[in-house]
Amino acid sequence: MDLKQVNVTQIKRIGDKTAKCLKKLHVESVNDLLWYVPRSYIKYPEIIPFSGIHDLEDGQIVAVYGTVNRDYSENRYSRVLISTFTIHDASRNNSSIRLKIVFFGQSYVKNIFYPGKSFVFYGKIKKNGFGYSMEMPEYYSPEDYKAKLNNLQGIYPLTKGISSNTIRKHIQTAINDFFPVDDSFSNDFIRTNHLMSLSDAFRKIHFPNNAEDAGEARNTLVFHEFFDFLKQIEASKSDNTECPSDFVIHDFSMGNHYIESIPFELTGSQKATAEEIRSDLSSGICMRRLIQGDVGSGKTMVAFLAMTDLANAGFQCAMMAPTEVLATQHYEKICKDNEAYGLSLKPVLLTGSLTAAQKKKVYAGIENGDYNIVIGTHAIFQEKVNFRNLSLVITDEQHRFGVRQRQMLSEKGSTPHILVMSATPIPRTLTLTLYTDLKISVMKDMPAKRIPIKSCVITPAQRKDAFALIKKETDDGHQAYIICPMVEENEDIELENVTSYHEKLDAWFKGGIRYGILHGRMKPKEKNDIMESFAKREIDVLISTTVVEVGIDVPNATVIIIENAERFGLAGLHQLRGRVGRGDAQSYCVFINGSGKSTENERLEVLHKSNDGFFIAEEDLRLRGPGDINGVRQSGDMQFILADIIQDYDILVKVKEALT
Ligand code: ADP
Ligand code: MG
Repeated sequence: MDLKQVNVTQIKRIGDKTAKCLKKLHVESVNDLLWYVPRSYIKYPEIIPFSGIHDLEDGQIVAVYGTVNRDYSENRYSRVLISTFTIHDASRNNSSIRLKIVFFGQSYVKNIFYPGKSFVFYGKIKKNGFGYSMEMPEYYSPEDYKAKLNNLQGIYPLTKGISSNTIRKHIQTAINDFFPVDDSFSNDFIRTNHLMSLSDAFRKIHFPNNAEDAGEARNTLVFHEFFDFLKQIEASKSDNTECPSDFVIHDFSMGNHYIESIPFELTGSQKATAEEIRSDLSSGICMRRLIQGDVGSGKTMVAFLAMTDLANAGFQCAMMAPTEVLATQHYEKICKDNEAYGLSLKPVLLTGSLTAAQKKKVYAGIENGDYNIVIGTHAIFQEKVNFRNLSLVITDEQHRFGVRQRQMLSEKGSTPHILVMSATPIPRTLTLTLYTDLKISVMKDMPAKRIPIKSCVITPAQRKDAFALIKKETDDGHQAYIICPMVEENEDIELENVTSYHEKLDAWFKGGIRYGILHGRMKPKEKNDIMESFAKREIDVLISTTVVEVGIDVPNATVIIIENAERFGLAGLHQLRGRVGRGDAQSYCVFINGSGKSTENERLEVLHKSNDGFFIAEEDLRLRGPGDINGVRQSGDMQFILADIIQDYDILVKVKEALT
């Protein structure tokens, strides 16, 4: 059975409501759910004796063994059902101590917590003037809890209405009902490569006995991801090596005019890369090129030059960005340059949030050649889009696009030139492995005149200093980013989240600051509106997850504060930092180390020392070391769920060997 085709609602006890929550997490099929791997693991604590409750602090997470008293009551508070009762020591040693248990909106609890029954309650202790309570605890029979103690519990990225516990239950059900899954590897292949079966890997990534289990399961899943990826590359390579091009040009005069018109001088790398591209375009063979350049190295300009010359030769070009925000930004930029410098381009923006009528018009215009520069998101892939003579496809930060999609798009024109832009600073050997199908231009130079960004690492207690810096900068008319690892609050992990962060700002700024919120679960239109207001300076502070990592360009932003910096890889942090320092003013980057560990400071110091993406990527690898199971999900830039091209380089090499 192909579990990609089986909707999650086919899993017992997943109804429409849960399915909706899961969809927000981009989990729609059973396959998606199995690949929805924990972001980290916790070990459940030993049960504490009841007498220990008095020593607990507010917010501590504990397990207690208690018997339900005869005081169950229900209340409603603004239409939410609140069920409360107390428990006493099930081992009867401390009969005077009571702990209040509270559930919200769970009408069934009345039928579970009968007086005299005993459970292990696991949750966060709340302490106030009325005593101790535990809200929405997990509850288990003593036997079940004991079994849990031996295992690691997966902690999942969450959204409102769903808990890690619920996700775990559904995954368990899926495993019971759908396993074994189809394995693309034979038993022999699994044995020779020291892997697990895919079924075992899913079982152990979600329900490991120990860290070693989780690590091995992860290796197998990473192996699968790399395998599929390299296979796709191989396929696309055999399709288009050295194919003759229908779009050969020799006239680069409009590009030259563009270069002469802009108010800055191209960097050496930009000149060299533009030259390489020109030689590709006039060679008679389809271009297949990767531009690899650190954030801010000016890749966009090089891409625009190629489009300008092809468009002026009468051909169409398409440029795809991973987000609508970024597409819009590119579009606006090229329109501005087109007008200011008379580039004779006919650009159009094509994104998912256009209305059906608008799209129809754009499609028609593309088909009959009214437009020769199409900038957009995945929408460009849609079957209805027929190009008249698509000569070049550019993917910005291409990792968000699969090779397969690239191919699909290529099929629309008669094999266009392909230009891929990447800001992921990866060592050269790695590049050669990942991009066997592409020639590579490396852009090492940075535009001159840039003032280096000042970076520092602080503790959460020093956050007010960071806010003071924001105040100073915004008073000067500049803007700031604040990055949090989480979208919403998560009971299980104490990490800063985008949704409630403004409370901190409000407390400090007393309302005197305009902020906006941006994260990957918002609709494209909402994201766009926020980014637009940020670009127009209607917002002072943008509170965001790492979605801003993919190349947004607001030169007026001079501060970026990164909460829980310990949760990010150095390469990712470097990308985030690249959001500032893009204008003429001094910029600042503040890493907040929420872990309390000084070893973390040492790791973050690397960023303090260096601004070189390649150096940072290598240090990242050295300092993290393989087999670090904290944060099993990778947060980087590639299309993988788990695999991290730097951390998992060894596996990548193995896959490559297995494939040849
Ligand atoms: P990236 O390589 O990260 O995509 P961009 O193309 O977004 O970088 O360029 C970053 C900023 O630098 C843009 O505002 C762009 O206009 C500007 N820029 C590009 N090339 C140069 C240059 N040679 N000199 C000065 N500024 C430049
Ligand atoms: Mg860019």
